[in-house]
Parts: sequence; structure tokens; C-alpha cells
Amino acid sequence: MLKAINPRPLTRIGHGFDSHEFREGIPLKLGGVSLPHTKGLGGHSDGDVLLHAITDALLGAMAAPDIGALFPPSDPKWKGADSVVFLREALNRVRASGYTVCNLDASLILAAPRIGPHAPAIRNRVAELLGVNSDCVGLKAKTPEGLNLENTAVAHVVVLLQKEITSKKTRSKNTRKSEQKAARS
Ligand SMILES: [Zn+2]
Repeated sequence: MLKAINPRPLTRIGHGFDSHEFREGIPLKLGGVSLPHTKGLGGHSDGDVLLHAITDALLGAMAAPDIGALFPPSDPKWKGADSVVFLREALNRVRASGYTVCNLDASLILAAPRIGPHAPAIRNRVAELLGVNSDCVGLKAKTPEGLNLENTAVAHVVVLLQKEITSKKTRSKNTRKSEQKAARS
């Protein structure tokens, strides 16, 4: 077997994707925020497509099992569950491995409701859940032009993680650099 060149990377990237169908008469939750709308997202748990994609992005970055493996939709325990529970489990795994969230970027694709007016609330809530500043949470919303997905909400997320504490090697390298800089000035 080949020896890993970088067994403990300083950064890790993760990608998450999810989609849910709209259903009449159920509450709509996106990014942990309840939005006023006539329809909500059906399926697994509370159907929060954005939190599910973020959860999978975090798990993916750790090369951990995905949300469906950790919280099987077939398990009645997760029916109607608050998706914050899934996100917290993923975040716990990230932190247990010594990583922290650097930033994330999300794209939501849905015909309605308009996300613009709710974007600040969603970004703030996601930032709060992840323990980062809201300027580390990107959120873009698109309508499904040409996709024929008028009754579906789709979320794509990429997340960047970084090692929580810089290694001795990095520290000494940085110290050396600042010493060289000080010597030059
Ligand atoms: Zn989902």
C-alpha cells in the first residue's frame, strides 16, 4: 500500500446535495427557519433540504457515512424530527476529529417562495448552528429554469473545514517567517 503523503490535512472540503418535494398543508423549514408558505417539504424528518445538504457536506468532508446511513428514513424515530439534530451530530464528528468550519456556500433551487427576504435570517441561523460568523455562510437562491422541477426544492452545499489548532510544524514555520520579516525591517 502507498504511504499517504498528507495523512492529516489542514483543510478538508465537503459537498452535499439534497432534494425534497413540496406538499400542501405542512410547515416549510429551510436552514432551520420556518418560512410562511402554503406548502412544506415532505419526506424524511422535517424535510429541511438545506440542513440535510449541509449535514451531508460536513459528513462528506470527514469521509464519514452520509445522513441516510446515520439517520435512516425507514427508522420511525426520525419521522418529523428537527433536522438540527442531524446537523449537530455531523458537527460533533467534525469537532471530534479536530476540525472547525471555515466557511460554506449553498445554492437553493426552488420556484417558490422567494428566498431573498428570508436570506439574512437563514444565513444567521445556519451560522449560529455552525458556530461561525454569518459572513462565512453564502446563500444563493435560483428558480428551476428549464429543469421542470416546479414542485421540488433542491440544495447544493460546499463546506471547507480547517484544523482547529495549527500544528507545531506550521507554528514554527510561521514564527520563522515573522522572524525573517522582522530581521529584514
Ligand atoms: Zn433530505
